[in-house]
Amino acid sequence: MNVYLDNNATSMTAPQVVEAMQPFWTESFGNPSSIHSFGGKIGKHVAVARQQVAALLGTQADEIVFTAGGSEGDNLAIKGTVEALAGRKRHIVTTRVEHPAVRVAFQYLEKQGYRLTEIPVDRDGGLDFEQLQDALTPDTAILSVMWANNETGVVFPIEKIAQLARNRGVVFHTDAVQAAGKIPIDMRKIPVDLLTISGHKLHGPKGVGALFVRKGTKLTPQIVGGHQEGGKRAGTENVPAIVGLGKAAELGLNSITEKNEKVRILRDRLEKGLLESCKGAVVNGKNRLPNTANISFEFVEGESMLLLLDSLGIAASSGSACTSGALEPSHVLRAMGIPFTLAHGSIRFSLSRYNTEQEIDYVIEKMPPVIERLRSISPFTHSGDGQSWGAPPSCAT
Ligand SMILES: *Cc1c(COP(=O)(O)O)cnc(C)c1O
Repeated sequence: MNVYLDNNATSMTAPQVVEAMQPFWTESFGNPSSIHSFGGKIGKHVAVARQQVAALLGTQADEIVFTAGGSEGDNLAIKGTVEALAGRKRHIVTTRVEHPAVRVAFQYLEKQGYRLTEIPVDRDGGLDFEQLQDALTPDTAILSVMWANNETGVVFPIEKIAQLARNRGVVFHTDAVQAAGKIPIDMRKIPVDLLTISGHKLHGPKGVGALFVRKGTKLTPQIVGGHQEGGKRAGTENVPAIVGLGKAAELGLNSITEKNEKVRILRDRLEKGLLESCKGAVVNGKNRLPNTANISFEFVEGESMLLLLDSLGIAASSGSACTSGALEPSHVLRAMGIPFTLAHGSIRFSLSRYNTEQEIDYVIEKMPPVIERLRSISPFTHSGDGQSWGAPPSCAT
């Protein structure tokens, strides 16, 4: 059996999305900016996609800027805001648990001379709201707080945070790449200024995304040239991908309103099954997305778990796709203060609406012997100085 539980890294392109994109690789190849009818009729499809994305987020269509993905959206929002303020404000604020696309953009600005504050989180992954309140000053140019964390699935109270930023006159950006298509987002109700989504995290194509820019928000484009995307992002539109993103947004919106609970039920089944059969297993994070389970198996090394699971046809992830490979525990788990032996044994299962109960039961069945085998050879169970840590907890196999 092949079981794909790595949807926070990337998700299967929905068949309806592939179908919607198809004509735009072949007969409908025109440039939407052209005057002739080859191009003119293409513009309509880009407009429909813009409406579909706007509907998912509760925005106006002309507040949507198409980008080449989540990383570009984050960079455009953060650097574009700071640049638009022309150095009048020199302080920038984010959290310790952001995706690298946000984190590294802030570190880049820090190197340019901006003063950076990174707000900590607690053991459950929750944001320290008091520190956030104290951090915002009249000199703060931008606050960026992700809607939901890609590694743990922890959802931040974006409404409360957006309200705080609005009251303090600070531009507020949220990376909603993991939230979009999984939980409701309505920009009519929440005063967010800028919001990023990415196609391939919601069953759309890779290399396309969107940035919501609320009317009146000042933003300096980071890619200049043509007049596309209301002057906020130059370059001939990636029409097939944009059409695919629109379709994915439509399907995502329908799945939230119809059968969102399906994913949560499967995720809870997986967690319950693993926690029952493996002693010493703990779930990382509280208040989470319905699809994500980040579980630590003490005294086991995450990467070895992934390799054994892979040999059984099960795809999951340890740390984040970007940090695994390096044997550094993830910056998110470290920020939560999760001890070394747990952080190293953490594994992320991220589900989608395409997973089935049979798949989940297969993982619940295969996992205990994997853990058992790795614990029997774990270097963590006997410390180097001869001090025994005692027998590791065992699994019911
Ligand atoms: C995947 C991801 C991104 C980056 O999106 P790309 O489209 O892959 O560039 C940004 N933020 C979060 C939270 C993500 O999970």
